[in-house]
Amino acid sequence: MALVPLEEAQAHVLAACAPLHPSAVRLADALGLVASVAITAEAAVPPFDNSAMDGYAVRAADTEGAPVELADLGTLAAGAASALTVGTGQALRIMTGAPMPEGADAIVMVELTEVGSAPGTIRITEPVAHATSVRRAGSDIAVGDVVLSPGTVLTPGVLGVLASLGAARAPAHRRPRVGVVSTGDELVAPGDPLGPGQIRDSNRPMLLALVAQTGCTPVDLGIVRDDREALVTAISEGAASCDALVTSGGVSVGDFDLSKEVLDELGDMRWMQIAIRPAKPFAFGVVAGTPVFGLPGNPVSSLVSFELLARPALRRLLGHTELYRPHVLAVADADLRRSPDGKTHFVRAVSSLEADGRHHVAPVTGQGSHQLAAMVAADALVVLPDGEGVAAGDDVSVLLLG
Ligand code: AMP
Ligand code: MG
Repeated sequence: MALVPLEEAQAHVLAACAPLHPSAVRLADALGLVASVAITAEAAVPPFDNSAMDGYAVRAADTEGAPVELADLGTLAAGAASALTVGTGQALRIMTGAPMPEGADAIVMVELTEVGSAPGTIRITEPVAHATSVRRAGSDIAVGDVVLSPGTVLTPGVLGVLASLGAARAPAHRRPRVGVVSTGDELVAPGDPLGPGQIRDSNRPMLLALVAQTGCTPVDLGIVRDDREALVTAISEGAASCDALVTSGGVSVGDFDLSKEVLDELGDMRWMQIAIRPAKPFAFGVVAGTPVFGLPGNPVSSLVSFELLARPALRRLLGHTELYRPHVLAVADADLRRSPDGKTHFVRAVSSLEADGRHHVAPVTGQGSHQLAAMVAADALVVLPDGEGVAAGDDVSVLLLG
């Protein structure tokens, strides 16, 4: 089978993935989603002029000859509305966020005030200018401001802005439900005894977490045995209830081809050998309208395959336009030798920003595609194009895994 360039495989996958339909998502469920339409403010924030300080609302002109003494009108708390007017020679004790009373045009912070010499007076120790410590209506958001555009990521701050305008929901692309299936007769779930030749199912928790980290809702579809009926049920039910499926195992050339047979029957699958290492075997197709990512079983391959092929596609379902992890040009801190084999190698590495202002990378020990524990230390993939590799000190292209 001819090797497929990674970019071709990525384009093939993305072509079958479109942003999910927008809906009105409750703010509590909207973190990380992508806005689908623009929102224009119909109200001002803050809605009224208010005090930026605990202090006294005064007429600034009255403080010109400070120290001065003013008549104390009482106290106005945040959340209250005052019918009082601050006249010449008067001051109203006011709390942060309370509306500016009629007549006052500045706030004297409490630190610049003392008890006055006569009962019912306060002493202002320094003059204040007009508008001091007054927050104007609309100074955060003015009516007509665009607070959300299609493509805006709903960060905590954006959700706060929407709430400040009274929104209970945000217009956003729906969060994809992504089912994760492990396939293989050798796999054992946590808690079950490990029989001869059996191994723990490490991919499923890892892939469920990668799905969650991507901002999708993970759906655990369990371990599926190399059994026709079990495979048909898992894949067809998964495709019906999820927006995407991620399977691991059973995509290699030498694999017992039951899962291939079943997937081919259920959907329109393309089985690929991608020109990369690790994560060469990969399958992708659409089953009943649902994209299915067939990742290789080796844990490191599974993770790298998810990063390079599934994550960008899931981000597209979410409505993101930035699909890929950032690439940087870094300094190799060690020789990264390899032999020509027609593939791009992704070397698991630790990256650091050094005093020279550049990213540096050093490979982790243990580059086998089964050596997941070694990968844990890595936060970057060094991209080594086909060839002989690079020497320490050379520049290399690096994918930062964040
Ligand atoms: P496969 O892609 O099915 O040929 O599997 C390749 C290798 O990955 C084999 O050593 C499998 O035992 C291993 N493997 C497959 N699925 C998993 C899994 N869910 N967790 C850990 N290892 C797995
Ligand atoms: Mg297998």
